[in-house]
Order: sequence, then C-alpha cells, then structure tokens
Amino acid sequence: MSLIIKPIRAFSDNYIWVLAAASSDLVAVVDPGDARPVLEWLQRSGKHLGAIMITHFHSDHTGGIAGLLEAFPEIPVYGPAREQIAGITHRLSEGDEVELGFLSAAFSVLDVPGHTAGHIAYLGHDVLFCGDTVFAAGCGRVFTGTFEQLANSLLRISRLPPETRLYCAHEYTLDNIGFAKWVEADNPALLQRESEVLAKAEKGIPTVPSTLAIELETNPFLRLTEQTVVAAAQQHMAELSDDPVAVFTALRQWKDREYD
Ligand SMILES: [Zn+2]
Repeated sequence: MSLIIKPIRAFSDNYIWVLAAASSDLVAVVDPGDARPVLEWLQRSGKHLGAIMITHFHSDHTGGIAGLLEAFPEIPVYGPAREQIAGITHRLSEGDEVELGFLSAAFSVLDVPGHTAGHIAYLGHDVLFCGDTVFAAGCGRVFTGTFEQLANSLLRISRLPPETRLYCAHEYTLDNIGFAKWVEADNPALLQRESEVLAKAEKGIPTVPSTLAIELETNPFLRLTEQTVVAAAQQHMAELSDDPVAVFTALRQWKDREYD
C-alpha cells in the first residue's frame, strides 16, 4: 500500500499533514493545531481519522487534539514523552515505533530537541515529519531547548539519506531563503531554489516537502561545516571557532537579532 501525504493549511502558515492510502478509509494527521480544517477535510474526502501524531507541545501543533478526540474518541494520539500534552495516549521517545496498521505504515521516533526540549520527529518510508526543527531553507527558533541541542538535532538530520523528504510544519520557505542569501549570496543552488520557490508562491503551491538533498545544498543551518557558511558566521561573532555547534549558534542568533 503506498502512502499518500497531503497538506491541510491551518492558521496563516501552518501545515497539518494527512497520511492516507487509497485502499484505507482511515487517515492519520500530524500536528493538528486546529480541528476544524481537519474535520472539513475528512468530510470532503469521506475518510475517518485513525491516529494523531504530535511532534511538540506548541499550541499551533496541538490545539486541535481535543476537538478531534470529540469526533473520534478512541483513536491513539502519539506524542513526545518529555512534554506535557493533554490527550496523548502513547508517550514516545528515541527508538520507539509507531505502527499505523490501517496504512501499512510504520515510523521510528527520533529525539530532535532544540526548538523545544522534548521535540520528536517521525521517520519512515523515506519521509521525516520534523515539526519545527528544520524548515525548508531554515530551522526553528530555540524556545525551551538549547542552541546546542538544536545544532546536534540538525547535524543528525543532515546525516539521514539525502532522498529523505522533509515535511516541516510551516510555509516559511521564501522568507528563509532571504536569510540564506545573507549567509551565502553567491550559492547558485540557493539562487536556483529561490526562483523555483517564487514561481510556486505566486501560484499558491506549497513549497514543502523538500528533500534533504536540496536542504544540504541550500539551507545554511544544514551546511554548518561549509567554508562559506563558517566565514559568514565568523563575521558576526568575534573569535568564533569552526565547531558546528558554535557556527549554528552564531547563525541562529544573527537571524533572531537582525532578520526576524
Ligand atoms: Zn513550535
């Protein structure tokens, strides 16, 4: 059974990902910040909800859990073991498996702290649901985690197979490319990506998912050992070493301070 993944838009720029299969009446959703657009999607498609998967506790990822459980009271709700989230039935951490029998799908859980201290991601079928850890051409802010944690989570993601498709939870790509150009103004892959993303944005087409291969060529936060990226970070922090955690911290703080 092949897995179909579709976006539901929520709020101004969130994506709630739907996992479906042609032969199944049940679907799963990742990070439903709002129940209403999910319930509308289900009604339109004639499908029912079979499971909820949560990456971290922020309300724009969890705000729909209660409303969905009212409509589908018995379903499993998977989420991070290290965060307090109402409605979670299966508390997960590194190495745990999520079996979605109704989709013949299975995902393994990765601990990817940094944006929040207990953030998890779901890996399977050449797909990573990475929440707010890595974005297309960017990465999440550090909230309840640490810069060191987020740097190490990104380094870890960068070592996954390059064909891995990254399903992040926000449409931030164009904005992120603006900062990526501050870091690497002459990166030809980045400039190429910008024109592709602009064309999609004009038509309202999602620019997510991307592949890890594209991110490794264009996302400064996944290019922490590239000489151009190290040099750009060093211009913004005196005495900076080329240690990837230090480079990440300098880049992320530079973006927080001066870009957004
Ligand atoms: Zn978040």
